Amino acid sequence: MILADVHTHSGFSSDSEEPLRNIVKAALDKGLKTVCLTEHQDFDYPEEGEFALDVPAYQEELLRVRDEFSDRLEVLFGVELGLLSYMPDTLRDFAKSANFDFIIGSSHQIDGFDPYYPEYFEKMGGKNGILHFFDEMLASVKAFDDFDVLGHLDYIVRYSPEKRYDPLDYREVLDEILKLTVSKGKGIEINSKGVSTLGYPHPHSLVLKRWKELGGEIVTVGSDAHEGARVAADFDKAEQALKAAGFAYYTVFRARKPSFIKL
Ligand SMILES: [Zn+2]
Ligand SMILES: [Zn+2]
Repeated sequence: MILADVHTHSGFSSDSEEPLRNIVKAALDKGLKTVCLTEHQDFDYPEEGEFALDVPAYQEELLRVRDEFSDRLEVLFGVELGLLSYMPDTLRDFAKSANFDFIIGSSHQIDGFDPYYPEYFEKMGGKNGILHFFDEMLASVKAFDDFDVLGHLDYIVRYSPEKRYDPLDYREVLDEILKLTVSKGKGIEINSKGVSTLGYPHPHSLVLKRWKELGGEIVTVGSDAHEGARVAADFDKAEQALKAAGFAYYTVFRARKPSFIKL
């Protein structure tokens, strides 16, 4: 059983209103041993000021709640940092600006668009929009090292108007992303939010298997919850996917160092 949810958001993220304490309390109530908050920081977001994290206020509240729950649950200090190939220095400075336990590097933006909104795919088309997003992710991973895992690798598919998604259509670029991530000693995450949006956790099972084939070992598990009720949601599906891909362990980062926990 997976007892660590290491991708969660509270009201310190622009797209959540949940008090941080509620996320931690929900993790405890669901029987977890570890929860990592990973609030959003996205630089250069189309709407000025959105997804700009107040790190000192976040850290202060996290330390307060960590203290309150210290005898019952481990509470880790993480961030989900939006990858941008064209500003690696800004990302690097941010990553070093606090003593984070864990940094998820996630591609959320492309060409000044947030593909959550329809304009991006209207301009790019379904398949081409996905391909271009992966190309940009590859450029980001080439340009930047200071992250621990790549977040929700095929997240773009959640918003694509083309519902059919076969990773083999993007094999070349996906292989490059995975090989580079392995060679940099980084991990990927399995993100169970995909179950409610696509019917399976991110990334697609073929991508997860390919990660293993290419020598990938580090996989963290996260719900991407933005409210207490979604903490550890669909973790049974994430566990099945990990086992089916041949993994015997999942990973938790503390002070940016991985430890492996038996499934
Ligand atoms: Zn994300
Ligand atoms: Zn997230």
